[in-house]
Amino acid sequence: MKMEDTYQHKGLRRKLIDELRSKGISNIEVLEAINRVPRHVFMESGFVHFAYKDQAFPIGSGQTISQPYTVAFQTQLLDIKKMDKVLEVGTGSGYQCAVLLEMGANVYTIERQRELFMKAQPTLSKLGYKPNFFFGDGYEGIPAYGPFDKIIVTAGGSEIPQKLLNQLKPQGKLVMPVGGTDSQKMTLVEKINDQEYRTTEHGSFIFVPFLKGRIY
Ligand code: SAH
Repeated sequence: MKMEDTYQHKGLRRKLIDELRSKGISNIEVLEAINRVPRHVFMESGFVHFAYKDQAFPIGSGQTISQPYTVAFQTQLLDIKKMDKVLEVGTGSGYQCAVLLEMGANVYTIERQRELFMKAQPTLSKLGYKPNFFFGDGYEGIPAYGPFDKIIVTAGGSEIPQKLLNQLKPQGKLVMPVGGTDSQKMTLVEKINDQEYRTTEHGSFIFVPFLKGRIY
């Protein structure tokens, strides 16, 4: 049964956590959150056995579930605090969303592909996770529910949309992989006030593309 979280799954997750720690993830809350999320439940049936490998895998509609290291890295960079209001752009499988919820965040997640949007909801709710789901174009953010303490973009784009920066609270943080289609720099933007931002880069990653518009 796919939903079951067996001792074997738990054991494999412990090993994954050790691996993430050895790759430089040091935030205990992030590691514990990843240790609590049954990643295999978010995977396509053909890949379930690989769920605790530190790799990205296809989730349908040409998209991927992010690599655990990448999920941990982005979550750590965002410095998630309990009760943070977080916007996630690119719900995909819902896995990153579950990790944010395990950190105690209040999550608003948006997906542009209807098929994935429809699939992530039952997966997350069966596990007891309750984010706020939106079907739409993440380039626009979710202005009616902003501003947010944190924004995480889980697809790679050539530039950070101003509309997302506008939906960030002062002292808020945004992480997004920025670059071309081959490789992107993990970019952290800290909003000081409406005019001032501090931008830093944190290594290279490869994401599926951040695309405009939505697909039914
Ligand atoms: N966070 C996801 C990662 C999925 S891959 C997970 O943990 O599984 C990135 C996702 O971003 C894809 O599902 C893709 O459809 C979505 N995406 C790309 N451009 C988008 C946009 N403009 N708005 C919303 N979602 C977008």
